Amino acid sequence: MNTPSSKIALVTGANKGIGFEIARQIGRSGATVLLGSRNRAAGEIAAAALAGEGLAAHCIPIDVTDRASIAEAAARITEGFGRLDILVNNAGITDPADGLPSAASLDAIERVFRTNFLGAVAVTQAMLPLLRQAHSGRIVNVSSGLGSLAQNGDPGYWSAAVKLIGYSTSKAALNMLTVQLAYELRDTAIKVNSADPGYTATDLNGHRGSQTIPEGAAEAIRLALLPDDGPTGGYSNSVGVVPW
Ligand code: NAP
Repeated sequence: MNTPSSKIALVTGANKGIGFEIARQIGRSGATVLLGSRNRAAGEIAAAALAGEGLAAHCIPIDVTDRASIAEAAARITEGFGRLDILVNNAGITDPADGLPSAASLDAIERVFRTNFLGAVAVTQAMLPLLRQAHSGRIVNVSSGLGSLAQNGDPGYWSAAVKLIGYSTSKAALNMLTVQLAYELRDTAIKVNSADPGYTATDLNGHRGSQTIPEGAAEAIRLALLPDDGPTGGYSNSVGVVPW
């Protein structure tokens, strides 16, 4: 890896789905994009596909539930680039044993939390020293409309019947990371925002989502490339602000 003057971006869970498209579009903006992948082979194939499109793309092995792999990824970025301009915490899972509050498997809730919330906290903590080296850092937490307390409490919400206590609370917790970290970093050049992709056809939902992957990736990309006068501590989708 060289040390380009262009932006350096890390997207977790970038070997497929929304994360891959986020990586592609950030790469098209001129950034060097690091595709985080827990499966090295899948990440190498994804990075090669973007490199084949003429983008500066590299695979970085990272399992967000494995602290050693996070530390190794941070060390590789430190050695290769010395800074990080954009972090997109995109890696996320659902779990078939998740479900209604009365019945969901506790083990499933724990698994989902380990990836969707603790994983994002761990990666953010490991990458913050690198983000502080950037001229203007951006952190995007890929949340979900299902993480909105306001929408969950509204019987008229179009997705009101989808009650996954593990998944939804993991994304609500991720939103709290956004709010608290944005406050903590309010006097720095680092902006922290939550993006709600909307219901998007990917492996996560058996491709039942109503949006295309580029549509689902759009808001996270916008937040990753925010200008210096852009917002911090927000929660939005491609239509606008999402109520917490
Ligand atoms: P996806 O196609 O299943 O992709 C998920 C990505 O996360 C994959 O690359 C997966 O890697 C990775 N991942 C899972 N666990 C990981 C771990 N421990 N460490 C590193 N990477 C891990 O799903 P997607 O729909 O693109 O989801 C991307 C994000 O959008 C998630 O945070 C999801 O919650 C959020 N979201 C999706 C929708 C939707 O409708 N699709 C709606 C709202 C929010 P593997 O290939 O190794 O499994």
